[in-house]
Amino acid sequence: MAKKEFQAESKRLMEMMIHSIYTHKEIFLREIISNASDAIDKLAYLSLTDDSVHTKREDFQIRISVDKDARTLTVSDNGIGMTEEDLERNLGTIAKSGSLQFKQEMGKAEDVDIIGQFGVGFYSAFMVADRMTVITRRHGQEQAFCWQSEGADGYTITPCQKESVGTDVIMHLKEDTEEEQYSQYLELSQLRELVKKYSDYIRHPIRMLVEDYRMKDKPADAGEDYKPEWETVLEEQTVNSMVPLWQRPRSKVEQEEYNRFYQEKFMDWQAPLSVITASSEGTVTYKALLFIPAATPYDFYTREYEKGLQLYSSGVLIMDKCADLLPDCFRFVKGVVDSPDFSLNISREMLQHTRQLQIIANALEKKIKNELAKLMKDNREGYEKFWAAFGRQLKYSVVDQYGSKKDLLKDLLLFTSSKEGKLTSLAEYLERMDPEQPCVYYVCAASADQAAKLPQVERVADKGYEILCLGDEVDEFVMQALGELEGKPIKSVSDPTALPESEEEKAEQAQQSEQAKPVLDFVKQTLGDKVHAVRLSKLLKTAPVCMTADGPMSLEMERYFAQMEGAGAPGMKAQRVLELNAHAAPYAALKAALDSGDQERAGKYAQILYHQALLLAGLPLEDAAEYTQLVCSLMG
Ligand code: ADP
Repeated sequence: MAKKEFQAESKRLMEMMIHSIYTHKEIFLREIISNASDAIDKLAYLSLTDDSVHTKREDFQIRISVDKDARTLTVSDNGIGMTEEDLERNLGTIAKSGSLQFKQEMGKAEDVDIIGQFGVGFYSAFMVADRMTVITRRHGQEQAFCWQSEGADGYTITPCQKESVGTDVIMHLKEDTEEEQYSQYLELSQLRELVKKYSDYIRHPIRMLVEDYRMKDKPADAGEDYKPEWETVLEEQTVNSMVPLWQRPRSKVEQEEYNRFYQEKFMDWQAPLSVITASSEGTVTYKALLFIPAATPYDFYTREYEKGLQLYSSGVLIMDKCADLLPDCFRFVKGVVDSPDFSLNISREMLQHTRQLQIIANALEKKIKNELAKLMKDNREGYEKFWAAFGRQLKYSVVDQYGSKKDLLKDLLLFTSSKEGKLTSLAEYLERMDPEQPCVYYVCAASADQAAKLPQVERVADKGYEILCLGDEVDEFVMQALGELEGKPIKSVSDPTALPESEEEKAEQAQQSEQAKPVLDFVKQTLGDKVHAVRLSKLLKTAPVCMTADGPMSLEMERYFAQMEGAGAPGMKAQRVLELNAHAAPYAALKAALDSGDQERAGKYAQILYHQALLLAGLPLEDAAEYTQLVCSLMG
């Protein structure tokens, strides 16, 4: 019979497995058992609606057996089984395409890690086996099939006999070498330990022969001096505890178990940052086990990322990613919800409308929020790691849906503070703030660093006020959505009303502007449409110029919209205002040039000031060459 070739990617993965020097090869067993368990889940699920499934729920099981003479280890399940096409599709082609993609991103050197972190499913058995045979019969079919492969060369599929529905995965173990004792996987005690270690919470019984020491029955004719005798018996037992992790009380679970559960189930190579458990009995009964990942998934900010929690009903999976259980703002959370209140064969459409789902979702939202707030308080370093990974999501969520989540989320936000340059929460800001301080201040630029250096900052900072230095495009929208904090308005340092003005100051300002009118008009005329207006600045202390914007759209927002797809709508431009500092030397020079009738020189000054304002605001120069020329022409 003809050998078939593996699909190219599968072949590469398989070769990687065969030659693997990975030290924890034992994980192959977990992978094979997990496939068996999934296959049983599928048949169990089918049995809810399909009367032709005859296996009773209590009969579902996974069996592990060994044949030392033949050097084979077999994992059997009475799950759904595979058709010939299934075999072709599932075992001839790599299923975990995600892991291969990830592997490629990490580069070849990390091959070894990927195995431990993700497992690589079925193929991982080739780390310990030199030949694999899969005998399988699909539910509803009479014909069984045998898939066989001795490695990367290819595989064969032939019809065969199998009594019952399900799958036997037979692994022929490699010969022992100096480094590796493959024979250990023929030892029942070792296999049992591996099941305990990796597959204890598999919901279906994993059965195997277990060695037991037992006192022999006392013979009827035993005399007075009979000494009890012991014997070793082999007995088939269920070796996993089967209770899902989320059903066990938190105090009885090791952190390590939670970590392993999370990493395997949600395919993360890092341990989670936080574990959240929740349960309720009453209107709705449920248990939840949630995790906050430690790093941003590579597809998190793309359309591919699908949020959701796994939904179980009494241990049976009914939906893999139930989106309605998780509010968008916490879409990074992974986990499991198990509630007996959902009927097993509820349709997706019906599910969406159940009241229970909403009740659980609301409770989880609060729970996650509290957990994050606690993390911020008790483990600041951990929280800042979280913030680096998912802070943007929280900020977007403050702005989203007309700010409906802002009260939920505002305690979780962090921004760089002008004091010490460290991240601060808004509550911490308020705590440090002098009650007399008129506003909560922020300043925006392309980065927090740059923001802190803007000329507008000086005036407010000199008053001793703390300023939030914002560098993310969404930050300014966050500030607008929040609007105020405990009665204090939140204002940009570029807002002319940022600092209160006395009537005298106002009058003086008006008078100065009146006097400066010819200069300002000249500059506006020189610059034409490049700026919406030119005025004397109230914002500046020592710096000669700055750029601000009139109207609702700030310079930062303009930048934000410019980065969005399909940008360039004319309405998405800020109305730029060039602000001049009447107390700074360049202004005096400009005025002097004008007063002496040297319009050419004054025009150059105006241009230079405009360009400097652009530079300070982090805006692109329209013509760098022209600007350099301008400066040089004044140096001659
Ligand atoms: P994954 O489990 O991540 O999908 P695997 O490489 O482990 O990747 O398995 C590939 C596919 O082969 C599975 O998705 C499943 O469809 C099928 N499969 C593997 N083992 C079994 C089994 N014991 N019973 C039924 N199908 C199986």
